[in-house]
Amino acid sequence: MKKIVTKFGGSSLSDASQFAKVKGILEMEPARQYVVPSAPGRRFPEDDKVTDLLYLCHRQAAAGEDYRGTFDKIRARYMDIAHALNLKADIAAALDEVCARIGEDESADYCASRGEYLNGLLLADYLGWRFLDAAQAVRFDEKGNFDSEATQTLMSAALADGEPTVVPGFYGAKPDGKVHTFSRGGSDITGAIVARAAGADMYENWTDVSGFLMADPRIVENPREIASITYKELRELSYMGASVLHEDAMFPVHRAGIPTNIRNTNKPYHPGTIISVNAPLETSVPTITGIAGHKGFSVISVEKAMMNAELGFGRRVLQVLEEEGISFEHLPTGIDTMCVVVSGESLAPCRERVLARIIELTSPDTITVHDNMSIIATVGRGMVHNCGTAARLFSAMSRAHINVRMIDQGSSELSIIVGVDDADFEATIRAIYNEFLG
Ligand code: ASP
Repeated sequence: MKKIVTKFGGSSLSDASQFAKVKGILEMEPARQYVVPSAPGRRFPEDDKVTDLLYLCHRQAAAGEDYRGTFDKIRARYMDIAHALNLKADIAAALDEVCARIGEDESADYCASRGEYLNGLLLADYLGWRFLDAAQAVRFDEKGNFDSEATQTLMSAALADGEPTVVPGFYGAKPDGKVHTFSRGGSDITGAIVARAAGADMYENWTDVSGFLMADPRIVENPREIASITYKELRELSYMGASVLHEDAMFPVHRAGIPTNIRNTNKPYHPGTIISVNAPLETSVPTITGIAGHKGFSVISVEKAMMNAELGFGRRVLQVLEEEGISFEHLPTGIDTMCVVVSGESLAPCRERVLARIIELTSPDTITVHDNMSIIATVGRGMVHNCGTAARLFSAMSRAHINVRMIDQGSSELSIIVGVDDADFEATIRAIYNEFLG
């Protein structure tokens, strides 16, 4: 039988009426047998997220302040849901235990993880499903790195009987049993892990938007929706994807060949966006799948005559960045120049040191830094067989009087990346969007 793993985000489980929507969605499709919940999110724009309140409790307790007032807000959120849905689980006792342990020097990770844990208890009770504590089946090593293989073994064994199960998102445990969390938004990763372990046919990620848009709606008015995108394309569009789906949530399902479907809990009949390994056979693929970018990059340009013949030149430049813990975004090179694009924020605190060390290691003819550059990725599997895409893109930019400062196209032909002044960021995205999709 078909198996679907569903993950519901914080706004999808923020109160009793959202819980009822979730139950309705699960009942619509019997293949939806596994649920990964987040902690209760915001019910209205000024509302608190339970996870933020839990971190606050931890900070207050660690500073010796009274955290019980903050915890009462958390308690009220869960008790309201339990009362409204007439649930049997002894959530009051579970809340008392969490409250006491926050005061007993528990780690920030433990405190934050209780948002998902308690919501999972309520949801399992409401659905009449089994509850599996993620600490039993999601494993991190002693240093806190996710242990994918140990997790796959434990989780697939725990789910092997096929019983419908609720697995709280966001956390797991180290080998000594101490709770450890993923980074913020990490319930998306748990969902992907459960999908892989269950051998699911589909990973449904239910949130409060109907999937990805082809461009940022704050820049392009009413952009088109993306019906289908590949995992590789989404990686190239990572500047866009991160706000909807945690970046690390793609790996377990991509590797297992399981598609991800982004869906909207408040519009359950909207098909959303399907992310798959290979896009379905389409009669007409749009040339462009999406456009996304980011401001605030710096470009370090190193120039030296005969650089191309000097073995190890590139390695020495990159070694300096590695020493400072800076990762680079792009690396466009010419015959005698090498440019390294890094985020301006990561360079700022060690800028002088980085330049001095590159000079020391490579003795360049010149070295310069250009700040305030935006990077914009135009991505599309449809580019591969379409001649003239780059010409159209650059003509559109030139008609909009935008100066191109950098060009980078990977040999995958999946994307064209341009660098422009930060001041031209929005205009560039609009010019490209209008050329291909307007
Ligand atoms: N509740 C956690 C957070 O707010 C994890 C999640 O929702 O995915 O980051």
